[in-house]
Amino acid sequence: LIIERFDQFASRLANIFVYARDCTRGSLADYIPELAKQDPESFGLATCSIDGQQAMLGDARTAFCQQSVIKPMIYALAMGLNGENQVHRHVGREPSGRRFNELALDPDNRPHNPMINSGAIMCSAMIRPHWSVADRTSLLARFVSSAAGGEPVDIDEAVYASERATATRNQSLVKLMDEHDAFPEGSDPRTALDVYFRACSLTLDCRRLAVVAATLANGGVCPTTGHRVIDSRIVRNTLSLMLTCGMYDYSGEYAFSVGLPAKSGVSGGLMIVVPGVAGFALWSPRLDRQGNPVRGIEVSRQLVEHFPFHIFAGV
Ligand code: GLN
Repeated sequence: LIIERFDQFASRLANIFVYARDCTRGSLADYIPELAKQDPESFGLATCSIDGQQAMLGDARTAFCQQSVIKPMIYALAMGLNGENQVHRHVGREPSGRRFNELALDPDNRPHNPMINSGAIMCSAMIRPHWSVADRTSLLARFVSSAAGGEPVDIDEAVYASERATATRNQSLVKLMDEHDAFPEGSDPRTALDVYFRACSLTLDCRRLAVVAATLANGGVCPTTGHRVIDSRIVRNTLSLMLTCGMYDYSGEYAFSVGLPAKSGVSGGLMIVVPGVAGFALWSPRLDRQGNPVRGIEVSRQLVEHFPFHIFAGV
């Protein structure tokens, strides 16, 4: 067993959950109107170890739209389909130091990395560009589903419609990239945005998101099904970028103080990967100034306080 005495581990995790629940700072994202309807009190936490032991707390079985938490999976799928070189011809791997939807490209006129909007839209453009949006979305949904343990993944159509109706900034990002000829030959910038919006609207609960994180922690093999879902090389690349770019313009601070690959999203989701040990997933819609779930930061800090999970803790 990777975590001995899992019941003890789960009860210490429950203490962390109770501690973080008291934290009511932060506010809901409202630039996508549908997200402002989330219950600010919602709080779910789940974990899955690389040998498939699971624990769940609070609203861990309530599905929520993934938003940016899905970006690592968009990137991993794009890389599986196109190869590392082709993907990185069109998207960098350097933290931007700017907000996730900032109108900015790197010195080579590429998005800085796949964990911000421009980079995720670019990766969406590289998912089977000649297929219909519906087929591309279901390819991604099936990929996410296999990483999450197999049950089908739904789309929140209300969130999709809401985001599509308030898309000016993301459309501007597409125009900026298009103006600089950043998109690969044969891709269609307009449908890329639609695939991206549908990806952001995919729903999972914490229980299943923790299995996705555990699949990444396990080198790409889903711990609950034993199926290889992602190439280990792709997992390595994905985790590297989650470590350096996964928490918006708090990524450097998070890498320093928590020291784990993670990805947050504006709906309040967060997945945290402890390589070779376990995955964690959290959902709490109140966000801090950088756009990260306040309770998510609290739980992350507590996790590395109580367990030797920081990747440099043992050196
Ligand atoms: N769908 C959101 C957007 O494009 C995702 C952003 C996020 O979660 N940071 O603005």
